[in-house]
Parts: sequence; structure tokens; C-alpha cells
Amino acid sequence: MFDKVLIANRGEIALRIQRACKELGIATVAVHSTADADAMHVRLADESVCIGSPPASDSYLNIPRLLAACEITGADAVHPGYGFLSENARFAEILEEHSITFIGPTSEHIRIMGDKITAKETAKALGIPVVPGSDGEVATEAQAMKVAKEMGFPVLIKATAGGGGRGMKVAHSAADLGLAFSTARAEAKAAFGNDSVYIEKYLQKPRHIEIQVFGDGKGNAVHLGERDCSLQRRHQKILEESPSPALNAESRKKIGEIVANAMKKIKYRGAGTVEFLFEDGEFYFIEMNTRLQVEHPVTEAVTDIDLVLEQIRVASGGNLGFRQEDVKFSGHAIECRINAENPRTFRPSPGQITYWHPPGGLGVRVDSGVYQGYRIPPFYDSLIGKLIVHGKNRNECLMRLRRALSEFVIDGIETTIPLFNELVRQPDITNGLYDIHWLEKYLGKS
Ligand code: ADP
Repeated sequence: MFDKVLIANRGEIALRIQRACKELGIATVAVHSTADADAMHVRLADESVCIGSPPASDSYLNIPRLLAACEITGADAVHPGYGFLSENARFAEILEEHSITFIGPTSEHIRIMGDKITAKETAKALGIPVVPGSDGEVATEAQAMKVAKEMGFPVLIKATAGGGGRGMKVAHSAADLGLAFSTARAEAKAAFGNDSVYIEKYLQKPRHIEIQVFGDGKGNAVHLGERDCSLQRRHQKILEESPSPALNAESRKKIGEIVANAMKKIKYRGAGTVEFLFEDGEFYFIEMNTRLQVEHPVTEAVTDIDLVLEQIRVASGGNLGFRQEDVKFSGHAIECRINAENPRTFRPSPGQITYWHPPGGLGVRVDSGVYQGYRIPPFYDSLIGKLIVHGKNRNECLMRLRRALSEFVIDGIETTIPLFNELVRQPDITNGLYDIHWLEKYLGKS
């Protein structure tokens, strides 16, 4: 087991990782930018190192500075969390070259899945159903038109290097295609420094259902059920739940087995998420994330497995601690992402939290890195906490969620709590009848 883990992240996830390390008796190192000197993850770590100024490129994304922090503190492993360098294959490689363990999959798996075209080809070869689309990159508008006409409109132009819903544009007809193609490329170039795009059939009313997988890198792998993340705004998840109200036991088992077998074949190590769109009873692979997800607590609630602790265990050479038949699913869990944003316009609302009262009670978990008096810096994403509620069934979970949301008080800044208070009372949500477009339509109407 490791002696000291450096956590190359900030906010709630840095604290989440610290908690797992502490339970395992591992010392923790926090790194932070000058904007985060007062952050909770810094205060609670055993050691901390300031690695630069607020822009992420000067701190959380700066590999030489992170390496220097490892060297100064003698950390023998790095947990990247999500975002920042968590899916940067070069970072994983550089750490290994310095005999520091990257707590995550191999750099090869990160690389394969980080390029969406290679990821789709790999998934297909492993027997995973994929969204119909172009065979690889589409380089010119003429080529795009040919593929789109063959496939039929609407189509979606997507960035090969994509992430966070950027570099993605819909073309409803031939007349839209030119503009969609050029804007997707320009957005991809600006966001990822790579303007390569491909085309997919645009599904009209799918749900986003993802399968949590876990492997030990030695050919043992399991699935830990699904999460339904269909409640989205601008392709960004807002609320996640498990199990999905749209799946039955048979479809759940079938897709779970397909994905777990694929992970066994490639000897996948650590936590991963295989994302699908689900429409008319069919699954279509869209991408794989080779890291811990924001919404991982939903799976932890229904499986009672600590995913971060398991990540650390297998990264240090341990075997998978459970077989598929040992994984038992119990009850229902829902997570709400609490963002420091206006609940209607979604304009970020950084500033000082003057009052902070999180909910509690049976089945309620709050993962957050903030506290009363804390000043949210304007430089990073606006997620300030996650409310995760578990109940014996979906109905109990919703009752508990309504109660927990009504207890949650955050003053001084705007948050998305009022929006969740509305959503958990909408019949379509309480009945589980929503697809990936539901929230945008709701926001447009209200
Ligand atoms: P990113 O990596 O940028 O998050 P994804 O490929 O994971 O991109 O897709 C994000 C979201 O975009 C999906 O959850 C879904 O809402 C929408 N989306 C992606 N591909 C399609 C598609 N082929 N048809 C319809 N919606 C899609």
C-alpha cells in the first residue's frame, strides 16, 4: 500500500479522495493554487503545497509543478480526481517514468478512450453496440454531406477530442450542415486544440445511461450497475440516479455483462464509465470515461462499495475485492449537483458563503469542499457540492430528497437548489419519464 498520496485536484473531489486515504491510513498531500489557499481540502490534508497562480494552466494542469510537489513531499502515488489531468495519458506516463503510481488505468487505455473515434472502434471490436455514424474522421464539408445524406438527417457533428459537451453541433437538414460542421470544428479547435470531427446519427429522444465498471488490471472486472444521467442542460449532467427508471432487470443484466466482458478482455484497471444513449430498448455506446465520475456516489449508495478506496487498492497492486455475484444492489439513489449559479440563467455566482446549513438524517450524504465564510473563487467550475440521497425504493428516495432539499440553506451566493426543489415535484420526474431533452424544454417553458 502507498505511504503518501498526492491529490492533483481541488474542491469536493479532493476531499472525497482524502477521506478514502485517511481510512486506509495513507498520508495525504493537497496541492493548490493561490486562489485556493483557504480551501477545505488544503486545511484537512496532512501536507499542502502551493503550486501556482489561479489559472489552471499555472497550477492544477501544470505537470512540472505537480511533479515537483511529489518530489518535495515524497508522495508515492497521485490521484487525479476528475477533470484537470485525470484523462491525460501523458501525465500518467510521466508519473510512471518517475516511479510514482498514477491511481487510474494504464496510459494506453486512457489514450484509446480519450480519442472518441478510436474509442468507438475499440468498443465495436469488443462487441459493444455503438451509435451509427461515420467511419472515423470527416475532414471536409462535402464528405460530411455525403455521410449525412446516406445516414439521414438529423445528424450530430462531434469533436474527436470532445468533452464537456463542447464541439458538438446538430444539423437537422442539409441546409444546416455547413454551419454545424464549421462551428463544431472551430469550437473543437478552440477547446481542445484539435479540430478533427466525426458524425453520428442524432438520436431524438434518448436517455443517457452509463455503466460503472471496475477492474484490477489482471483480467478481473465487474459492472456496478447503471446511472441514468438524462437530466442535462447543454449536454451537462444536472441530476443522476441509479437504478434507471427506464431499465428492467433483463436489459440491465444484458448490457452490464457485455460491458464487464469487454473490460475483462482489455484487462481494464480501476474505475471507468461506459456511456450509452438508450432509445426504444436499444443501447448505443457514445464514449468511455477512464476515471472516477462526479456522480460516482450514486453507485456507492446502491452497491455499498467505496469506489475511491477500491481505486487506491487496485492501483497499489491489489486484486479486485469482489466478484460479480458479490455485488448486491440495494434501493435507489439520486444525486443533485449543487452549483454556485443562478438557477434560471445558470450564470456563475462566485462570492462568499455567509451561511451554510447542509441537510442530514438517514440516507443523506453531502459531498462538498465549502464551509460557512468560504469565498468561492471565480476561476473554476461552479460545482460546490453534491447532495446524494438513498432510499429503499425510488419513491422513498424522492420523499427523502424533497425533505433534504428543503433543509439545505446556502446564503451569500446563488445556487441551483431552488431549481431542484421545483424539479423533484414535476410529475415527469417523479414518474421517471424524462429524456436528455426534457430539462431544456422545461427551462424554455417556465
Ligand atoms: P462529452 O464528452 O462532450 O460529454 P458525449 O459523447 O459524452 O460528449 O455526449 C454528451 C451528451 O450529448 C450525451 O449525454 C447526450 O445528451 C448528447 N449526445 C451525444 N451524442 C448524441 C447523439 N448521437 N444523439 C443525441 N444526443 C447525443
